[in-house]
Amino acid sequence: MTHYQHRYQDGALLDLPLGKVVCVGRNYAAHAAELNNPLPEQPLLFIKPGSCIVPLNEGLVIPEGRGAVHYEAEIAVLLGKPLSGKVTHSQILQAIIGYAPALDLTLRDVQDKLKKNGHPWELAKAFDGAYVLAPFISAKAITDPSNIAISLSVNGVLRQQGNSREMYWPIIRLMGFIAEHFNLQAGDVISTGTPAGVGALNRGDKLELALPGYAQFMSQVR
Ligand code: ZN
Repeated sequence: MTHYQHRYQDGALLDLPLGKVVCVGRNYAAHAAELNNPLPEQPLLFIKPGSCIVPLNEGLVIPEGRGAVHYEAEIAVLLGKPLSGKVTHSQILQAIIGYAPALDLTLRDVQDKLKKNGHPWELAKAFDGAYVLAPFISAKAITDPSNIAISLSVNGVLRQQGNSREMYWPIIRLMGFIAEHFNLQAGDVISTGTPAGVGALNRGDKLELALPGYAQFMSQVR
């Protein structure tokens, strides 16, 4: 059970339901290469349920006895309006209400086994606490989705660093593709993929997750 609600950086609650998280895999070439994955011909999508979202400031709890838990730092995009069917660039921009750094947690050993068998990834990706979300920075402050940086440090060491301009499927194009295939609703989050540098988390790890230039957040693995 989650008690997560979408919030702005100043703590103000957003009047939006808790929707789904639509994730894209292999959206940065260097990350696809580090896991020996080919780049897909179209966005590789999967969905995390809203029930797995936890707020970053409460600290992370990683499952025990299910193998390695990897962090994937990602730029999260929050929708304030629905999008469906063929939508224009400006409709997409108007529907975005905020951006936040997030962690797409992944049970890597479980995922490797699922991938080998050609099975869906939910057991590795949808567990309780599997999506860790910082508060949102208003889209009024971040006007250019094609130039947003993301970084993650673990125990003071910079592990991941990327920018949305390096994405294989840039944010607006990605969202247009998704809306053409299924409905996006107000309160849904798009998780736009992770740059290279993913790795395992351990109890006690101290994390610093940032959209550099806008906000940085501290957290810890409990
Ligand atoms: Zn991811």
